[in-house]
Amino acid sequence: MDRSLVCARPGCQGPAAAWLTYAYGSSQVWLDDDQEQDGDRWALCAAHAERLKVPKGWSQVDRRTGRPDGRVRSAAALAS
Ligand SMILES: [Zn+2]
Repeated sequence: MDRSLVCARPGCQGPAAAWLTYAYGSSQVWLDDDQEQDGDRWALCAAHAERLKVPKGWSQVDRRTGRPDGRVRSAAALAS
């Protein structure tokens, strides 16, 4: 009965694709693609991870790997 393996959004049964952790003290939200960290964390399916919106004044840090990083955009910026 590991409920952490499905999306934590109400009504969503999508498989966990990302892990959300947060810190009230620093108003930060992190997205990770593993669940190694201790503490409060929530599973999100891929769709909900993409649509994640953080509260006003909070910052969101996407630490997931396996995603396109900024290299393409940086290269384009250098070329222009
Ligand atoms: Zn979901």
